[in-house]
Amino acid sequence: MMAVMTKLVDVAIIGAGGAGYPAAFRLAAAGREVLMADPIGNLGGDCLAEGCVPSKAVREAALSYQRARRGPLADISGPPGPDLLDATSRWHTILRRKDAVQQMRYDQHRNELKESAVHFVAGGARVVDENELEVETDAGEVRRVGFHSLVIATGSAPSRLPIPGAELAATSHELFRLGADLVFPHRPVIIGGGYIGVETATILEHLGAAPVILELTDQLLPGFDRDLADFLARSLRGRVRLELGAAVTGIERSGTDFVVRYRSAHDSTEDSVVGDLVVMATGRVPVLPDGIEHLTVKLDHHRAPLIDATIRTTNPSVWAPGDVNGKSMLFHSAVRQSIVVAHNILAGGASADRMDFTAVPFTVFTDPELASVGLTEAKAAEQHRDVVVGSYDYTVDARAQILGETIGYLKLLFDAHSARLLGAQIAGVDAAHLVAPLALALNEGLDARALAEVAFPHPMISEGINAAARQILV
Ligand code: ADP
Repeated sequence: MMAVMTKLVDVAIIGAGGAGYPAAFRLAAAGREVLMADPIGNLGGDCLAEGCVPSKAVREAALSYQRARRGPLADISGPPGPDLLDATSRWHTILRRKDAVQQMRYDQHRNELKESAVHFVAGGARVVDENELEVETDAGEVRRVGFHSLVIATGSAPSRLPIPGAELAATSHELFRLGADLVFPHRPVIIGGGYIGVETATILEHLGAAPVILELTDQLLPGFDRDLADFLARSLRGRVRLELGAAVTGIERSGTDFVVRYRSAHDSTEDSVVGDLVVMATGRVPVLPDGIEHLTVKLDHHRAPLIDATIRTTNPSVWAPGDVNGKSMLFHSAVRQSIVVAHNILAGGASADRMDFTAVPFTVFTDPELASVGLTEAKAAEQHRDVVVGSYDYTVDARAQILGETIGYLKLLFDAHSARLLGAQIAGVDAAHLVAPLALALNEGLDARALAEVAFPHPMISEGINAAARQILV
């Protein structure tokens, strides 16, 4: 097919996820000619297509189902009665609600695109020269686009273990994509105890499944704060079967079931579990556009573009925000990086804005919820001579008591000399909300006095931030 040269733009953006579209809108609003391409044909990337948004839509439905059935707040409707829906019908009802949420956001994004000056092309892009792309549309038309600056925002994809039968496993795509129609799994086997694995396990468990998690290392949420990971492991006891130190070696079909084989990391014994669905939740890997070799962009050992704090690659005209650089594969981090890129492109490539990855909060939407920002206790002890800890237990908290959700804690780490906040960890209800003001405090370099002297509302768990900060001032 003949390629048609349609445009020479100031900025070309490959990928319209959280790393792509905020920069596109910011640059177009500032008068730059911007072209953005994505085969999804809309904004939101994987987060909206099969990640954070649909998984949370399913998770909130699963939580409210659980709370209505077992929660103390349901006393007003008498003891739990028989379910009107069986697990399968309930699951399908929830999936259709998830679809409606995705659709609502896609409609919203379509309008945002229409109201912007961004040239959007539904199609995959490949790099064909140092300053040129080709975008192939759904209709098979190939457009050539010249650019002065390029933003590679191609995100990441689920990684699959290189084991026999890996293709038999589902990923977040099969579970959460628009129109997902997976049969409800009563005995899911989840490979990987990272945040996607534990979130999926608790969602399915709430809806009546008996999940098994197989995790290679000796803790859930590898790399996470140990206390938070242990807290989660304790709270999952009796709800989710955990096999830690389990190196999965293969998956086989057995009738309509699957056999997942693993070797114990402790004693090398072989074992297996049987389930009706296998979910591969073994992390995500960067996705690079074809032809990236034309750009002389250096890649690290994970094949992610190397970037500096301005999110610029080793090629001064090329930027790589979001999942693709592998630094923190989170939507909100991608959005912030995207804005950093826009500011720096507008400044003519100067370092007008810089990304601080230490202030990016991490959330795990299990039940109970977990959240953290900044240094863990172990890292704080390594990097600072004296660390003091302010803590707050949910058992004394008014909102936690009102909700009947008193298992949880909040922990703030401060430098003993300056009283500056170094990190925070939260386990329990509202954790993902509570981490936001703490990320702000960390980003602004605030100290315990600042956190103690602002009055957070009563009766909300954010009062605990005030209380934990006051503890270290006495
Ligand atoms: P991030 O959060 O970093 O934006 P996402 O995975 O959510 O990451 O979004 C990346 C987007 O990039 C996805 O929508 C994907 O379809 C798109 N993408 C990946 N490869 C290409 C490509 N070659 N051309 C255009 N878009 C691409």
